[in-house]
Amino acid sequence: MKKRTKASVKKSPTKYIFVVGGVMSGVGKGITSSSIAMLLQARGHRVTALKIDPYINVDAGTMNPTEHGEVFVLKDGLETDQDMGNYERFLNIDLPAINYMTTGSVYKSVIEKERNLGYKGKNVEVVPDIPLEVIRRIKKAGKDFDVVLVEVGGTVGEYQNVLFLEAVRMMETEEPENVAVVMVGYLPVPGSIGEMKTKPTQTAVRMLNSAGVFADMIICRSPIGIDDKRKEKISKFCNVKVENVISAPDVNSIYDIPLNYEEEKLSTQLIELLNLPRKKTIDLKEWRLFVKRSKNENDKVKIAVVGKYFNSGDFVLSDVYISVLEAIKFSAYKLNLKPEISYLSSQEFENKKNLKKLKNFDGVLVPGGFGKTGIDGKLNVIEYVRKNKIPYFGICYGMQLAVLEFARNVAKIKKSSTEEIDPQAEHLVVGVMEDQREKIASKDMGGTMRLGSYPTVISAGSIATKAYRTNEISERHRHRYEVNPYYINQLETAGLNFTGKSPDGRLMEIVELPTDIHPFFVGVQFHPELQARPLSPHPLFTAFIKASYESN
Ligand code: GLN
Repeated sequence: MKKRTKASVKKSPTKYIFVVGGVMSGVGKGITSSSIAMLLQARGHRVTALKIDPYINVDAGTMNPTEHGEVFVLKDGLETDQDMGNYERFLNIDLPAINYMTTGSVYKSVIEKERNLGYKGKNVEVVPDIPLEVIRRIKKAGKDFDVVLVEVGGTVGEYQNVLFLEAVRMMETEEPENVAVVMVGYLPVPGSIGEMKTKPTQTAVRMLNSAGVFADMIICRSPIGIDDKRKEKISKFCNVKVENVISAPDVNSIYDIPLNYEEEKLSTQLIELLNLPRKKTIDLKEWRLFVKRSKNENDKVKIAVVGKYFNSGDFVLSDVYISVLEAIKFSAYKLNLKPEISYLSSQEFENKKNLKKLKNFDGVLVPGGFGKTGIDGKLNVIEYVRKNKIPYFGICYGMQLAVLEFARNVAKIKKSSTEEIDPQAEHLVVGVMEDQREKIASKDMGGTMRLGSYPTVISAGSIATKAYRTNEISERHRHRYEVNPYYINQLETAGLNFTGKSPDGRLMEIVELPTDIHPFFVGVQFHPELQARPLSPHPLFTAFIKASYESN
């Protein structure tokens, strides 16, 4: 019998789905991309997702969250856009750094290659060398996958993403049978007319065509579902099959979206468009169960999230803490509870009179943050919940400030502070990490924090071990400061337990108060929210929500 070698097993080609946006931003391109990826994964294909952001910033780490939303840190430490978080949550997988690029990072690679004689004396040009670098990255990301979902940031028609559309055009020309383009358009229903209008989407499709790219499918975002008459109109004027015009009305929960798309037979259509092997039937059992649980009308659990970035003009920005908010929800749903999350601005608690408001909550969470603004408010909140035995979960800055509050008010280390806000203070109970000092001095600030996954060893009997059910964990980090080891003994003697440390014992990763003193007082130096997923809620969040519910 002929020996079956590796080479004789024909690998089917990787397929690429590009998602582009038309008409306007903010219509949910990220969720559409996540949903498409998830549906194809549920069909048994190996799927990965990639985001292209049109900014010059090399990564999202240097952007103010009020401009750009949350910075989502990948396992290997890249600081990315919140859409990467949506992909990880919908696909329930970790994504690597190659799956995120910005205009800045692409140019940086091309320029570095040129400096290293990588172009062998050739004249390096914006076209084709920039799109070629984009294509190189997309193909590298897709190496071990059947399908790569690529979300192209920005809106067609703007200058910023022209070179990315050029990459799409080049790939489509090179391997048309392996590329599909999905355009997410918006169909307004102006109040004065009361009728859904298709023209802006038609115009966007024409603009896409002028870049040499042709849509195979159009997702029709709108306040309401699109009717057959308008589906046909879009089909005729935009040159796509009527089955590939997909209705996408507004919904209450983003987790309904893949299920709605499936009703429109979206995954079947894409499988046909790309000639993908028709594997198995779709398996959405777990997802449906999660969505069902998310609609429970059971007991409420009331959680206050106290942050500094909530207020922006007349608007409340919850996007800045999106992973934290989602993590709370996943754990509450798992416990069959209905989460009621309030966003409270830390500044309002600078006035201690406002603290009694916190009595109305079952639990309080202080998420990550930077700088001076709102610090005194957060410290007041932490003191109040510690004294009043309200369950507390502090993340990153929320942990460092919990340590500072304890140092000042319990361990009585007067004139103590964190180096981040008062470097001259006599006792820096939170100090800058040794390897960060030089970076700060030379303003080497982009992508230089302690970033990505690191192991933590947790001590037996702690709240953390009970939650994780193991004593060695791996969590993602993003910080420059740490609890100053010099004060550990003093803080421990005063009653604060350091229950999680780096394997060499040098870095304090988890602090807790004993459960006979406080029902749940936990601070973590890392960002557990980055690993919370709808189908696998985070154990520490679950422990916090459970303690909150039980303590009311
Ligand atoms: N500002 C703090 C630090 O840099 C905390 C960072 C955070 O909360 N992500 O260490």
